[in-house]
Amino acid sequence: MIFVEEERRVVLGIRKYLKENGLDAIIVSSWQNVYYCSSFTGYGDALLLITGDKKFIITDSRYYVQAGKQAGDYTLVKNSCWNLKAMTDLIAQEGVKKVAYEDLAVLHTMFVNYFERLGVELSGAGDLFLKSRIIKTPEEIAKVEAACDLASAALERTFKYIKAGITEIELAARLEYEMRTAGADKPSFDTIIASGVRGSMPHGTASDKVIEKGDGVTIDFGAFFGGMCSDMTRTVFVGEPSAKMREIYEVVKEAQQTAIDGYKPGMKGKDLDKLARDVIVDHGYGEYFGHSLGHGVGIDVHEGVSVSPGSELVLEKGMIFSVEPGIYVPDLGGVRIEDLVTIGDDGKLRMITKAPVRDLLIF
Ligand code: ZN
Ligand code: ZN
Repeated sequence: MIFVEEERRVVLGIRKYLKENGLDAIIVSSWQNVYYCSSFTGYGDALLLITGDKKFIITDSRYYVQAGKQAGDYTLVKNSCWNLKAMTDLIAQEGVKKVAYEDLAVLHTMFVNYFERLGVELSGAGDLFLKSRIIKTPEEIAKVEAACDLASAALERTFKYIKAGITEIELAARLEYEMRTAGADKPSFDTIIASGVRGSMPHGTASDKVIEKGDGVTIDFGAFFGGMCSDMTRTVFVGEPSAKMREIYEVVKEAQQTAIDGYKPGMKGKDLDKLARDVIVDHGYGEYFGHSLGHGVGIDVHEGVSVSPGSELVLEKGMIFSVEPGIYVPDLGGVRIEDLVTIGDDGKLRMITKAPVRDLLIF
């Protein structure tokens, strides 16, 4: 559940936006922002109408009890959320004429079949939610931290299963079991386990490949817990790694640490990316680091912040983002180390992911 105070802050921000733009109401339709505004978790099965002084949630009979508990401060409109008449009646009742909608999240078919037929003047809300969600409150940071702690502990309990003979899928299932039994709602995304030469695929989801002695095993996973995502990656080894893989591991680790230590207030996403990238380039592996250094994390596992070579975004207090350099060499393997950070009161990057250690681990 989002804290009541958080919801108030979000709704206040929306009302300010409505007022400044001469709008009567907003229709919130994406599950992420329905959740962000109301704490309701019937993902995708509710719409919100927020006016200058009232808040409504439209959802069907599967969710009446749940909506009462999670979004009790919203007036419940009992109907299927995409029932056009439910919304047109509500709009007429409230005298709403100019309406903002989530133009960044609405599919074209939804726009044509629903929004355009509401008989109101529509205005795209643009980056309203993006701008709000990119800066986390201390409570939201604490929730991401809790999701990270849960995921870290689950990985540590999974370590004993990492050995030659187990398949990537079996390992992913064990890790997800450990997260679920610790309280996670679900994984934040499909667990990535890429071993041996498959490690050269940065987003290789777990396959039926058997993990063999000498393999590097890249494990990229997260827990969705308390409404927020965690995201972390560790590359561990089963048996002694080759000298080349050991070297690659140390370069990736140095790249990550260089970015973490080198952050300075006012830096843009591209500046932080460069700190890590330069280390990898200097060691001759530049062509094997093809993705950005990091991304924002929150209700979505990828949201807001971009830490990439082209990012002009100034990294600010309240942002949470990953620092995840990697080197992927075709036909050899790959290494990635990923942790989440935020900007601390001292103006330095503060680790949100606390464990396990980032030293090279051999099982
Ligand atoms: Zn990840
Ligand atoms: Zn990530």
